[in-house]
Amino acid sequence: MEQPGRDDLISWKESQPANFFTAVPQLRSLLELRMGKPLTALLEEKLTNFGRDVAQIIEPAVHTQERNREFPKLRSFDEVGRHVEQVEFHPAHEEAARAAWASGMLGTALNFEGAFEVAGLFFLLSHVGEGGQACPIVCTIGLRRAVEHRASPMIKERYLKGLTETDSSKALRGSQFLTEVQGGSDVGANVTRATLDPEVPGAWRISGEKWFCSVADADLFAVTARPDSAGPGTKGLACFVVPRSLDGATPNGFRLRRLKDKLGTRILASAEIDFNDVLAWPIGELDEGFHVAVEELLNTSRWLNAVGSAGIMSRAYLEASSFALHRTAFGVSIASYRAIREQLARMKIETSAALASTFALTELVGRIDEGTATESDAGVHRFLVNANKYVTSIAASDVVHQGIEVLGGNGTIEEFSPLPRLYRDAVVFESWEGTHNVLCAQVRRDCVRLKLLDVMNQWIEKELSLVSTKYSREVEQILHSLSALQPGLLESLIDSSRSDPNFRRLLTDLMHVVQATCLLREADNSPSDASKKATASAFILLHLENGGFGAEPRWALFVDDILVEALS
Ligand SMILES: Cc1cc2nc3c(=O)[nH]c(=O)nc-3n(C[C@H](O)[C@H](O)[C@H](O)COP(=O)(O)OP(=O)(O)OC[C@H]3O[C@@H](n4cnc5c(N)ncnc54)[C@H](O)[C@@H]3O)c2cc1C
Repeated sequence: MEQPGRDDLISWKESQPANFFTAVPQLRSLLELRMGKPLTALLEEKLTNFGRDVAQIIEPAVHTQERNREFPKLRSFDEVGRHVEQVEFHPAHEEAARAAWASGMLGTALNFEGAFEVAGLFFLLSHVGEGGQACPIVCTIGLRRAVEHRASPMIKERYLKGLTETDSSKALRGSQFLTEVQGGSDVGANVTRATLDPEVPGAWRISGEKWFCSVADADLFAVTARPDSAGPGTKGLACFVVPRSLDGATPNGFRLRRLKDKLGTRILASAEIDFNDVLAWPIGELDEGFHVAVEELLNTSRWLNAVGSAGIMSRAYLEASSFALHRTAFGVSIASYRAIREQLARMKIETSAALASTFALTELVGRIDEGTATESDAGVHRFLVNANKYVTSIAASDVVHQGIEVLGGNGTIEEFSPLPRLYRDAVVFESWEGTHNVLCAQVRRDCVRLKLLDVMNQWIEKELSLVSTKYSREVEQILHSLSALQPGLLESLIDSSRSDPNFRRLLTDLMHVVQATCLLREADNSPSDASKKATASAFILLHLENGGFGAEPRWALFVDDILVEALS
């Protein structure tokens, strides 16, 4: 029997990219724009090889685990009843880890080029979603930064080599445990305690419970805890490194209660852990623990969360756009329907915008790492690392959702495409490393305390001054109104009489301006690529037409009346 529909699906599957680096030319153009020079032959080779390995080794390994529900399993005891607190994975997990670590992502120098190399490789990796590897890599990079920048010579000597190893079988994996059951956003409410060890010089003993512990299989845990004599709140928190084991086998005083059964990131082991007098060493000064956690760990993971969100979006777009070309409905390719084309274009626009703003952020990470960042660079970084995580993670869920719709009913089927798993992972990317409201509140505080809106305004102005391409009258009009955004106007918008939701709306609008600016820079840098100019124009018309900067929508006037029964 003739089955043309199946043949179409087969040819769609056969058209899938064999290399995500060559499939996404925007990565090269953004790297070159933001690095200010062409890719070196070495970086090009690394990206080409890893783009291939992600498509041909890591994707099939992740698919095998997800398809067969081969999730991590807790093994608390060994054969003779001793506590081992191990996590067991399907062999495909190790296969994926070998390829991910071999990319060299963990071994890059902390400098300008290094930041771009990490971002480029991590973007490619994220085409499989979290994949059981992204979180361990992010946590290991974060812990390595903390150790390299802040730890004692003894800790550096002991752990840096393992944290920068590119052979996964010899590597030390890092993790970061801040969240406790009483709250993840409110880290200052942490009650896990640290007591000076009377016998081991410089060491501490940690006791308490951590509620969300991803990479529960890690070799080294970064743990926040409150030293006995410390006060309340975030100021009283210290940050410690805790080795999984002191003798290479016996757990260092902790017990894995259970692995969490999660919506997304399902092949990543996330546990609840009890710590009972575990031996630990401080990273940095005791009273700097919260700064260590934010500046080294969370800033790394918020930056890379955005890179990962862009990778997820890029994959969703690749899947949906190729599907549309191969699927027929009512006798014609669905790619010929205007509604589908518009949907795909929206996906492409948001993906490009997320990539563009995230690589602008990467430029700042690179300058900070090489020690050439100005005060204003540091301010823009501080704003973007939080605001960009917020907007890109929301966009990722939206874009994958749109992709699922393009695939129709097939889009909801686990085995058919990676989209269901990307969607689940994207939802997790939205909440870990800082929820939306909490990031917005942080940016608001920074804007008030550090005058970051002025800093952002100057940055936008400087970036726009580098754009010489001419746009349509409508777009030029909007651009003109943006360049007239005076610092005073923005300051009035964050006046303390305005509510948090209004600031969240203002921040969303402001990030649209940032992303528009980044897209304009990108289009300017590739004058022969008409699609870049079209993408920038469309993004601006989509998000910035009819301004109403930070305006409260009419429906929000009814919020209290609607909730009066539920919340009174
Ligand atoms: C899969 C997964 C893995 C994780 N792994 C780790 C890990 O390895 N290590 C780790 O430390 N943590 C981890 N987390 C925890 C994560 O960081 C927290 O879930 C997150 O910080 C939010 O904390 P919470 O869940 O306690 O939410 P809550 O803090 O209880 O927040 C609940 C809601 O209230 C809102 N809210 C809170 N404060 C405010 C405010 N001031 N204004 C307005 N709204 C507010 C939040 O935005 C959210 O919508 C993980 C989470 C997930 C989902």
